[in-house]
Amino acid sequence: MLSNPPPLRVLFLSAEAVPLVKVGGLGDVGGSLPTALRLLSSESPAGGENPSRQVDIRVALPFYGTIRRDRYKSQLVASVQVPHTSGPISAQAYALTVNQVPYYLIAGKPIHPEAPVYSLDAGYDAHKFIFFSLAALEAVRNLNWQPHILHANDWHTAAAVYWLSLHRDQDPFFRETISVQCIHNLLFLGDGAEFPMESFYLPSAPPGTLPDWARHLPLPLGMLTADHLITVSPSYARDMLHSDLGSGLEGLFQRRAHHITGILNGIDYKIWDPDNDPAIPVTYTSDSLFVREANKAALLNELGFIPSDTGLEERNTPLIALISRMDYQKGTDIAIAALYQLAEQSKQPWRAVLLGKGLYELECSARQLQRDLPERVRAIIRYDEPLSHRIYAAADILLVPSRNEACGIAQMIAQHYGCVPIGRATGGIRDTILDYHETSESTGFLFANPTPEALLQTLNDALNVFRDKNQWKAIQKRGMERDFSWNRSAQAYYELYISLIQNRNRKHNML
Ligand code: ADP
Repeated sequence: MLSNPPPLRVLFLSAEAVPLVKVGGLGDVGGSLPTALRLLSSESPAGGENPSRQVDIRVALPFYGTIRRDRYKSQLVASVQVPHTSGPISAQAYALTVNQVPYYLIAGKPIHPEAPVYSLDAGYDAHKFIFFSLAALEAVRNLNWQPHILHANDWHTAAAVYWLSLHRDQDPFFRETISVQCIHNLLFLGDGAEFPMESFYLPSAPPGTLPDWARHLPLPLGMLTADHLITVSPSYARDMLHSDLGSGLEGLFQRRAHHITGILNGIDYKIWDPDNDPAIPVTYTSDSLFVREANKAALLNELGFIPSDTGLEERNTPLIALISRMDYQKGTDIAIAALYQLAEQSKQPWRAVLLGKGLYELECSARQLQRDLPERVRAIIRYDEPLSHRIYAAADILLVPSRNEACGIAQMIAQHYGCVPIGRATGGIRDTILDYHETSESTGFLFANPTPEALLQTLNDALNVFRDKNQWKAIQKRGMERDFSWNRSAQAYYELYISLIQNRNRKHNML
């Protein structure tokens, strides 16, 4: 009888993971991806194309003061020391299981219980996260749990990747461990880390390996020395090679282009499910799209638009939405300018709702748009998740005009809710919208240049298609039926891990 292959052991280091701690999108990834990887093997039919190897993924997370100790009961499982120039620093690992995933919460003096997850003190944060990264490695050594894969996320945990590259060859415990550096946000490289890196015995990279300004920074060092790099979309993996999006590290990315894989994030179907969403008036599926009209009518009413007697006008009047941080990166200004131009150009009826918070000047522009076009526009300047659900479930079109976007989830949520996205063709937006101009199987519309004129032109294309109800419904339906689940992402991560292990004799050494 064939025995089962041994589980694939993955140590996943993250600064955030829902439900324990979430500040931004990293928290969603840190919580959802490990659970999806654990579920892969339990859900896959024997002999199917899905993996048969169980993934024993464990997450290490700093034991922040904000993690509720009464709610999440944990047990001390390891006490270790992290070498430091001022003497070894003690660390403790506390174990608990959340959503089927074992967690190690790492405590120690540098992780102060009163400090926020990210403070304004770059030096303090660097000291904290480097300590956390190294303590997590020592904790699994102490537990004799030998990872096949070390998966580090963003700058906060990149020191572990760098440490591994410096020590792996002389360290029997970690000799076989393969490192993966995942990049969610290239804007934060770990500034303020120069002194903390040295004090944890992590020297700057040799001259010539990185730009001088980056030789001591955790994320560049992690990206230089990891066996493999992951970004959160295939297009972004290519975009990074160019100077406007590479954060000054495009030379490194070009050298490492064969070691970069883009894997799209997923959306959490437990939270985003039009068939079972307590936040929306009427639930629906791709087969009952006609009932979606009731959500639109309810939202128009909620927003104070005057309804027509028959409801026919509502049906034929497109409702355009924007749900986003208000920021130049997100192209909020592009959307506002395009809506002004649309109002000037077209006597056709349309309405728009803008939900967002962010840069004050853009919030003011959005409010001004409502003042200038009171019959057509509502600008709601706040963060309101339930309202975002009602808009996704009601609007006809979502504008996603980002100047750059590593992955982005709004366009995926929109498609899942039958709200047709118009997105700028960049990063993950390009990878997740099947463009009307390119394919007869489209799920949305893309435009190339980050300008109001380009958006307006594509918006006009979309409004023309909107008048053809059958064609529009087909686009909605195809979007709703696409797979944006974390299961799909987990499958791609699994396949990458396996291929890295199969090629482990080609371990990387950039130093
Ligand atoms: P980013 O994380 O860069 O802001 P993403 O597209 O990855 O952009 O994620 C944005 C998420 O935040 C989406 O789920 C979107 O619905 C939500 N969101 C943005 N602004 C608001 C808001 N004002 N109210 C409610 N949800 C919002």
